Amino acid sequence: MLNPSLSLDLVRIKTGISNCVQPIIIDRREIDELKMLGYSIFTYRWIVDPITLKPSKRSSIYVCKDCEKALRILKKIERLEQDLTLKNMRRMIELEGELLGYPRCCIRRFSRLKIEGKSPETTIIVECIENGIFEEFLRFYPEPTEINSLFTTNFYPCKLKCKNANDIGKRLIEYDQNYRFKIAISVINLLTPVFKIYKNFKPKTDFGRLVFSFVESLGELRLKAERIVENFSKDPVKFEIDYLRSVMHV
Ligand SMILES: [Zn+2]
Repeated sequence: MLNPSLSLDLVRIKTGISNCVQPIIIDRREIDELKMLGYSIFTYRWIVDPITLKPSKRSSIYVCKDCEKALRILKKIERLEQDLTLKNMRRMIELEGELLGYPRCCIRRFSRLKIEGKSPETTIIVECIENGIFEEFLRFYPEPTEINSLFTTNFYPCKLKCKNANDIGKRLIEYDQNYRFKIAISVINLLTPVFKIYKNFKPKTDFGRLVFSFVESLGELRLKAERIVENFSKDPVKFEIDYLRSVMHV
């Protein structure tokens, strides 16, 4: 049996939204099982980390349905990594987004902000704070709330209300109700840096001030948030698997 995180990742392939997904954890037995189910699994070693844009020894594991299609994209990425101009780096980020089936509008904005040295993560966190998303999430946790556009961790929609990203989230949940819990993990992943910033608070930027007043305004939810974030930070993979097992009863 596949771990619950991996089986929910596969929903993105089964619904035809993506050809490829990036599991957070996979073991030998699961690789064999996936191969029997007709999936291909391979590793890509980055020269430059597509998230930090710094030299990297990071490897990514991909599970995909159409292996040739995925390899075609990775070959292009490999070529771009040989000649790292800003333009090529941007294209490289876009190709990884394409590989993982992210919407075009979100990929374009993400890659532009990255190349400009801005943080797409920060802009989504600001939107979550300003729209009361975190607060509502904390109120109902461990039950998930409806934030369809954050359909997978490490995906940053061009805006929280992006129609394309929201439609994807909706389709995934329609296919498998448990997908809501995967989205909950994406929210926790965004909430975690908020508390890190709050802890080292130096109110020099607008973002710092926003984070400070947000955490201070949480009232009784603050303790609950700190507990979740602390557990998640210790071991995000274990947190996700334990959470999914408990809420999905598997
Ligand atoms: Zn978008």
